[in-house]
Amino acid sequence: MLEISLHTYIYALHLALILLTGGIVLVTFSLQSKTLPVASIRLFKAFFVFSIIGWILFALKDIDGHRHPLIPAGSAYIISGFLLFIAVKQYSKVSNKLILTIGFHCFVFFLNWRATQPLQHLMIVSTYAFIAYSGIFYTSFQRALKLKNVGNGLIAFGALLVVVTAPVQFYLGYEADALLTAYSLAFVTTTSSFVLVSIGFLTAILIHKHRQLLNQALNDPLTGVLNRRGLSNALTTLLPILKARNSALNVIVVDIDHFKRINDTHGHQVGDLVLAEVARQLEHFSRASDLVARIGGEEFVILLPGLSAETTLMIAERIRQKIATTPVVLPERNIKVTASFGIASASGRINFETLLNDADQLMYQAKHQGRNCVCVQEKRSASLAG
Ligand code: GH3
Ligand code: MG
Ligand code: MG
Repeated sequence: MLEISLHTYIYALHLALILLTGGIVLVTFSLQSKTLPVASIRLFKAFFVFSIIGWILFALKDIDGHRHPLIPAGSAYIISGFLLFIAVKQYSKVSNKLILTIGFHCFVFFLNWRATQPLQHLMIVSTYAFIAYSGIFYTSFQRALKLKNVGNGLIAFGALLVVVTAPVQFYLGYEADALLTAYSLAFVTTTSSFVLVSIGFLTAILIHKHRQLLNQALNDPLTGVLNRRGLSNALTTLLPILKARNSALNVIVVDIDHFKRINDTHGHQVGDLVLAEVARQLEHFSRASDLVARIGGEEFVILLPGLSAETTLMIAERIRQKIATTPVVLPERNIKVTASFGIASASGRINFETLLNDADQLMYQAKHQGRNCVCVQEKRSASLAG
């Protein structure tokens, strides 16, 4: 029979941890900090570097001639704990809280080096772990809820593991006199927590990056409102809901009047500012459940689900007046802007393309009526599918 000793497993685990940390260090160093989603990326990088040092010191503990072989690894643990703490807290500049955190860690670091007995060392490190990782758990959990990012949730879970087991280690070492069991528990917890934090960190970055790219793909970079792709994407969820509830969908098409003239007179850049300002007004006057999209050069659409045609007309009229009475203010001149509006509404089985076309035709009707006005659809049946 081929038997593998426990030591072989432990060495294999150490090697796996060192390689895992090395891999993560490589990944974090290859990420470009300018486009990075996680603001505290540098601190996380430093955390992983100190973790790898910690794992190496831990693996080498048997050949270390120190008065207590776990003190160097314990020091690396405290430093990496400090880095993780400030990384999740996202400290960007020196603050009173940061000075307090540094002071606390220096104190624990000093105590750790002064420890002469293994039991003392265990007490210091497990008390430290309980305090520091409670803070890491609290902050990561808050961030996970705020950003709805499961990566931060995994970091929080990794920290919680340390918080929950630290008192058990303390008890085992002090009360039950089971120092070896306490150390084994500390090793298993630290390893599991580290793996969770590593996966959580990479997941947080991936989720953030994915959202960033999705945002770029679905939104217009100039105005920040949805682009055509973003609008169709939103419609795939909105239309079935409206159909199920037999709710109405109101569409307002907005086209800036004589926009070419603005461009020709003041330049393309000023034209861009006007577009951004009009988009801002449209968003300002719409509810959270409404959708605003840029569907052409100087043509926008607002989708207002669940409103009556009368309320929609009132809102369109309010926006028209606001745009017409609020000039775009530039350092050297103010630019007067007006827009023409077309409104179409439908309910039940909505054919969006037909509805949009109706609203577009009404917007052109408003142009023919002299611009800076709103035209509303007379009958709804034209927009119904089938
Ligand atoms: P009308 O009142 O009939 O709508 O006249 P208009 O001048 O607004 O319409 P027209 O379609 O003749 O001109 C639209 C102009 O919008 C032409 C185009 O150069 C400009 N444009 C399209 N996209 C952009 C953009 O992203 N930025 C800027 N600055 N101009 C744009
Ligand atoms: Mg126009
Ligand atoms: Mg146009």
